[in-house]
Amino acid sequence: MKTSIKIFKIFGIPIELDFSFLILIISIYFLAFLKLISLELAVLITLIFVTVVIHELAHSYVARHFGVKIEKILLLPIGGIAKMEEIPRVPRQELLISIAGPLTNLIIAFTLYGIASTRIFPQAIIEFVANFILVNVVLAFFNLIPAFPMDGGRILRALLAEKMSYLRSTEVAANLGKFLAILMAMAGIFFNLFLILIALFIYIGAEQEYRLVFISSLLEGVKVSDVMTPEPITLKPSSTVEEALKTVFKYKHMGYPVTENGELKGIVTFHDLSSAEKDTPIEEVMTKDVITVNINDDAMTALEKLTKHDLGRLPVLKDNKLVGIISKTDLIRTLDIMRRTKT
Ligand SMILES: [Zn+2]
Repeated sequence: MKTSIKIFKIFGIPIELDFSFLILIISIYFLAFLKLISLELAVLITLIFVTVVIHELAHSYVARHFGVKIEKILLLPIGGIAKMEEIPRVPRQELLISIAGPLTNLIIAFTLYGIASTRIFPQAIIEFVANFILVNVVLAFFNLIPAFPMDGGRILRALLAEKMSYLRSTEVAANLGKFLAILMAMAGIFFNLFLILIALFIYIGAEQEYRLVFISSLLEGVKVSDVMTPEPITLKPSSTVEEALKTVFKYKHMGYPVTENGELKGIVTFHDLSSAEKDTPIEEVMTKDVITVNINDDAMTALEKLTKHDLGRLPVLKDNKLVGIISKTDLIRTLDIMRRTKT
């Protein structure tokens, strides 16, 4: 279901408004129209979001320079998100990508301040400009708080990574991020409940990113071929559902690759079979558009694919022939062994 609308593109990057954001903005102007809030306040809130877009664009622009694919910039009532692929694990690149947002806001603020001090603006818009400068300064400094995964925290990790391992720097930055999130939530109780929401995002974000880096460090150097189950039990496209069910009960796996002369044609799960007629050929019930991994891929790539597509298993290919299957269970078992041996 579509939950956002695209308004325009800048540098080829689509800017989208989430419906919840649209409702917020319309409500704000409606309240201003009813004179329940001032028009100045409505304009100020709009300015905040314009500034957020500029900020996210700056991150995206630099990230794209390093080859990161940018899907879109999405505006939500709590702020903006630049949806992009994972940021490269190159400290200097992460540093530049992270610093670009706050730095752009500061450059805008200083430039406007410089222009405004020449008194070129008429008095009528000077207040508007002053607000815009203020919003940019506040946003820049707020994002520079070293609460990983906020910009300041990412800058900190990138700087630490020059001196220590990527895992250790993420751990330090994430712990500081979680600590600051707790302080922020406590401050939120007294000053602004909105801060609690942001604190929650920071805390969860720090934990998730640390866990991801931890897992990928455990799986470092582990290939799909090390973890997969070779020569998996397969089914033929022409087999019937009844025959396939016999195999399922015999081997007790939940999913089976369907092959013909070693070539992968699809994958069929117990779920696909359980709702079909007995004499149907399984090629009619199997999933044909199968996500696969290559035998030479990193185990981490397999884990990312499993997680991203919410799958239980992936067929492993070598020269387009099926050579194995890798399941989430295999990977979790491997992670468990790695954790015991490495710590
Ligand atoms: Zn930022």
